[in-house]
Amino acid sequence: MATTLPVVESFHSIQGEGAHAGRSAFFIRLAQCNVGCEWCDTKESWSSISHPKKTIDSLVQETTIAKSKGASFLVITGGEPLHHNLNPLCNAIKNNINSCGDNAIPIHLETSGVHHMSGAPDWITLSPKRHFPPKEELLEACQEIKVIIHSKEDILFAEEMAHRSIHAKKNAYKSRVSTKQSLIKPLLFLQPGWGHSMGQKLAIEYVIKNPQWRLSLQTHKWLAID
Ligand code: SF4
Repeated sequence: MATTLPVVESFHSIQGEGAHAGRSAFFIRLAQCNVGCEWCDTKESWSSISHPKKTIDSLVQETTIAKSKGASFLVITGGEPLHHNLNPLCNAIKNNINSCGDNAIPIHLETSGVHHMSGAPDWITLSPKRHFPPKEELLEACQEIKVIIHSKEDILFAEEMAHRSIHAKKNAYKSRVSTKQSLIKPLLFLQPGWGHSMGQKLAIEYVIKNPQWRLSLQTHKWLAID
């Protein structure tokens, strides 16, 4: 079991996008990603070897401090965090922080879903990529789907992901292997690519006509905060 993880950065800030936008959160951005999105805004996170490794204990300590200073939840992001086995980190947080009743800090995972699940997070934001589709188990387990929009094909892909997610959740229910949470329909977000005027136009027009979808904006970038 890994007792260290490569960390690009860790910081306490505001969740800028998606279902929990506007809330105080502590972020751990893990290094390594081989998904290769050409428009990626965190390309510095792709390498697994050019970032310092932090111990699980030190990450738990940082999370504890952030929690004491107001963080409502922990976001494990990347890179692609599921390149790593997240069980040691999530178990350590659950055992050291979340076993203390009122001090519990929910664990949120942001993933493209290209790897198997680990860590049993409390909230999964699935951000699937058209060129590297997600695994079925992530479509079944996610609470939120957020698709980045640059073209009409991305909108079609977003609808396909929503359809497949609901189908996967129904199948899980039928086979009685689902948890209660996995039965919830995912919240659906279209997020225009940053600075992409066509993506903005397409996403806004689609959300106006399709109320099951919501618009997600990267408010932390608009406000120029971390
Ligand atoms: Fe960048 Fe995320 Fe795509 Fe990886 S999955 S290349 S971190 S946008």
